[in-house]
Amino acid sequence: MTEYQNEQREALAMVRQHLASLTEHELENLRERTADYLVFRQDVDAFLKKYFSDLCTQTCYHNQLSACCTKEGIITFFADGVVNALESSEEQLETLQERLAFPHQGNKCIYLGDRGCLWQMKPLVCEMFLCAKAEKEVLAENSRARKTWESLKQREKTFRWPDQAILFDDLEEIFIRAGYSSTLMYLHNSPGLIRIKAMRDG
Ligand code: SF4
Repeated sequence: MTEYQNEQREALAMVRQHLASLTEHELENLRERTADYLVFRQDVDAFLKKYFSDLCTQTCYHNQLSACCTKEGIITFFADGVVNALESSEEQLETLQERLAFPHQGNKCIYLGDRGCLWQMKPLVCEMFLCAKAEKEVLAENSRARKTWESLKQREKTFRWPDQAILFDDLEEIFIRAGYSSTLMYLHNSPGLIRIKAMRDG
């Protein structure tokens, strides 16, 4: 098992364990905290569907290229796992856990299934990734799409970039206070991000 896989497996187990220990009321509070983020994700989904669905289906899906989903090629934040778990069924989470339980063969992401990504709410880095071909064929040709995409990228920062108070930091904090620690808690263990938080807090 690779280090990447182990980190993912441990983080998922922690998230499931903690969420299972919460009351319905506490879970509801947690869901409320993610509400704005879910609206943002719906807006990104709608944008991608409108402008990129045909291109991605033709270029990558039909021929099973899935070029974006390379093996261990993406960073997942701890908060990605929390949001995904809140939005997933037990069965979906069990599928992820099973995937992570065995050594992974092949050169594609461990989470890539026959019908696409196995996450109910895929990691933010994946959601916001556009390959060079997609950028060139759509954004370079359509100023309206380009402006909308730029504005979505700005909104993305308000959830994960710690020059301001952000959801991804808050979600890590909740788990840290509950006694958990994960290498995927980048808002608390990446020197660069910690420095930005320190500058923010003066
Ligand atoms: S997590 Fe999902 S979308 Fe992201 S690289 Fe893996 S399969 Fe692709």
